[in-house]
Amino acid sequence: MKVKNDNLTQNLQKILLLFLILRIGYLLVFLVIRNEWLISLNLASIAIYLFTIFLSKRKLLGYAFFILHIEIMIHTSICILVLGWDYGFDIAIIALLSIIYIDIFQNKFISYILVFMELMVYITLYIIAFDNTAYYPKIYSTYFFLVNFLFFILILLVISKILNVTDAIHFLELKKDKEKFKYMSEVDYLTGLLNKRALKLITDDKKYSSMIIAMCDIDNFKRINDIYGHNIGDRVLKKISEIFINLADKNDIVCRAGGEEIIVVSFDMPKNKFLLKIQNIRNEINKSIIHASGENIKFTMTFGISECGSDQEELIKQADTRLYKGKQSTKNCIVVK
Ligand code: GH3
Ligand code: MG
Ligand code: MG
Repeated sequence: MKVKNDNLTQNLQKILLLFLILRIGYLLVFLVIRNEWLISLNLASIAIYLFTIFLSKRKLLGYAFFILHIEIMIHTSICILVLGWDYGFDIAIIALLSIIYIDIFQNKFISYILVFMELMVYITLYIIAFDNTAYYPKIYSTYFFLVNFLFFILILLVISKILNVTDAIHFLELKKDKEKFKYMSEVDYLTGLLNKRALKLITDDKKYSSMIIAMCDIDNFKRINDIYGHNIGDRVLKKISEIFINLADKNDIVCRAGGEEIIVVSFDMPKNKFLLKIQNIRNEINKSIIHASGENIKFTMTFGISECGSDQEELIKQADTRLYKGKQSTKNCIVVK
């Protein structure tokens, strides 16, 4: 289901429009039966509804619905006091109470006050007007009652649609938040690589019979930071990460282990094939240059490769020992034993 917040606004505007149409209908009837009081009342109501629709178009839905509540309380009271109870105008107040279900007002307290006021108006009208004899022949009250009742059903249908839309919007927002938090907890902000936590989650879930690991560390990175500044260091990290992402296989995991260390994990891959991939990555890094402050900055990495196996901790330790070996020798090399 495709839902946009605008959908909700449109549906809420429909309620205002329905009330406007109802008031126009009343006006026509009151013009026919020439009740000047009620003609004036409905003219005022129509002006008020045009104003609420204007407010809703400016996204001031809270104000529009507050005015709607007040208008209906006044309109219903006057109609019941003038015409009597049997015309079904009281149903409008019940329809109004059902609108409260929708969280339109920022402040829930406003909703509670409106419900309380509507309840008081309903009880007062019931006490004052329930026994009033109808002003016009019975046939009028029957038609009015039916129209008011049908209108109430229509409002309920629109409200149920609005509640569905609201639920769907909440659901989508929750889903989006969940995805955002998952991304934030598993992806490194600077490089876009997975972090160690994600590596663990993925390998725990994955089905494989063996894995092979490369521990990779930027050479003399501290010096790059010291000479060119941290921002350039960050650019080197990003550039290297891009190379890893481009040259790794689809099913590989490339993760930033913290600092300037990257781990590559391949599954069910022979060591010689894995080695070719790492050689490719090393060559590409050696060819890369970053331009900064009129200089061409070059950088290299040292790699420690594990054997194929299934104990991740053990393989990481093995690759790390080999990386250390490489750092103790020439750096910019791949150590496989
Ligand atoms: P080696 O060749 O032995 O690895 O030397 P090195 O200088 O790379 O290693 P060392 O561990 O002494 O320094 C690592 C440096 O990495 C220190 C730290 O400031 C830098 N570093 C870690 N994370 C970041 C980062 O996110 N951005 C930048 N710019 N530098 C970082
Ligand atoms: Mg380093
Ligand atoms: Mg390091």
